[in-house]
Amino acid sequence: MAAITKADIEKIVREVVGSMGAVNTASAGSYTSTQYEGRKLLGIYSDMNEAIAAAKEGYKAVRAMSVEKREEIITVIRNLTRKEAPIMAKMGVEETGMGRVDHKTAKHNLVADKTPGTEDIVSEAKTGDAGLTLTEMAPFGVVGAITPSTNPSETVICNSIGMIAAGNGVVFNPHPGAICVSNYAVDLVNRASKMAGGPEVLVASMDKPTMDSAKIMQTHPDIRLLVCTGGPGVVRSVLSSGKKAIGAGAGNPPVIVDDTADIEKAGKDIIDGCTFDNNLPCIAEKEVFVFNNVKERLISAMQKNGAYLISKAQADALAEIVLVDVTDKKTGKTKKSVNRKCVGRDAAVLLNMIGVSVGSDIRCIICETDFNHLFVQEELMMPILPIVGVSNIDEAIDLAVKAEHGNRHTAHMHSKNIDNLSRFAAAVETTIFVKNAPSFAGIGFGGEGHTTFTIAGPTGEGITSARSFTRKRRCVMADNFRII
Ligand code: NAD
Repeated sequence: MAAITKADIEKIVREVVGSMGAVNTASAGSYTSTQYEGRKLLGIYSDMNEAIAAAKEGYKAVRAMSVEKREEIITVIRNLTRKEAPIMAKMGVEETGMGRVDHKTAKHNLVADKTPGTEDIVSEAKTGDAGLTLTEMAPFGVVGAITPSTNPSETVICNSIGMIAAGNGVVFNPHPGAICVSNYAVDLVNRASKMAGGPEVLVASMDKPTMDSAKIMQTHPDIRLLVCTGGPGVVRSVLSSGKKAIGAGAGNPPVIVDDTADIEKAGKDIIDGCTFDNNLPCIAEKEVFVFNNVKERLISAMQKNGAYLISKAQADALAEIVLVDVTDKKTGKTKKSVNRKCVGRDAAVLLNMIGVSVGSDIRCIICETDFNHLFVQEELMMPILPIVGVSNIDEAIDLAVKAEHGNRHTAHMHSKNIDNLSRFAAAVETTIFVKNAPSFAGIGFGGEGHTTFTIAGPTGEGITSARSFTRKRRCVMADNFRII
């Protein structure tokens, strides 16, 4: 089989997204966190208290709106997202230095197509001898949302659709490293609202988000729900805020490949998933545990699909660059942490750092390592994939569960053995478990089900959608209102 080319990858992404529009690399234009090509962005504030006050007005407007009107605004958000996906994709790559324009475009289209709207809000009725009880999904009020640098505008738009569908207002404290593209997305939501006859500021954000502005958000009495998408530090912080919080935290998804799998397909699927947006999605394959008797075949299948195999010595040299020592301010202990300059970079750029020059057909770096290697243990978010050989399914499950570190986020397996698949799924307890497909099937890319960019494992909402941002309220009519 011939090596997969860049054009093939683009074709795959187009196919899995289905109805997405043409990928292009339209100019992102000139921009800051408050303007785009001289146009002032709507809903951006310098003071978090002002941003919250604006979001509160947005909430009042949504409360006064019919559900039909909310849906009209959401339809315009979807349309603008599809139209401006290439701009946000290019801006996201330029601003953060991470990821790929074609894949980021596909992610925006996925958000536009598969984020549930108001149809996700359903009421329940219970009738019986004592009458009728109605349970409705009500808004929380103003939601405070913290968003990451890895899927910045995708998360802002996905969160906005779900939160507005649920009847909430939203204020964002986006990642400072992705503030321009995040605020472009906030402005897009507000433009959509205005175009559909809604308020000019439906959602709000900060021009310079900081830890201090996040603190104000976390303690402000008007914020009724916190939704945090990010690493372990920020999830811990919102969960200790004393407010109702949804935490979508870190993952380190393992993949098991046993000797019943279609090895050619597994090699291709794993490389497709691992390299999607240069491994930035938290669901992407991060380490592989493969049966020793099929290991060479799997490596060869990966190499046919754009993987470059490096030696143990090269892997150790690369680890010295992509991971750096960081001292914890509280404990004084030093630990390894990802070098932000390497996160989401192209495989060729990373290989260059250890003096290896490759063509643009190489999209992933693979290496054989032992279980304790830092590439297995750390969530790299780079197209680097360590491969660990195992003797049997017991060893595979034991090591894969340990490598997942109890995040209970995402895991993958390639196998035709139902017992093995079931055993790993039960043991790893992840929110998402993908069988015989690339990781992105788990968020609706070529797999059934809706999408989200906020996967809430720690707090249990899972693949969040509008209903995750609601509170249940009950209305009881005693003795009456039955029709039978
Ligand atoms: P990050 O943790 O560096 O930042 C996330 C956000 O939190 C940013 O807005 C940042 O400014 C803010 N922040 C960080 N520490 C904070 C604190 N103590 N108080 C208040 N705000 C704080 O995340 P990142 O590097 O942009 O994203 C990558 C991480 O996020 C990875 O660990 C990835 O797995 C995870 N992630 C998870 C999901 C999910 O759905 N579960 C989605 C995307 C990313």
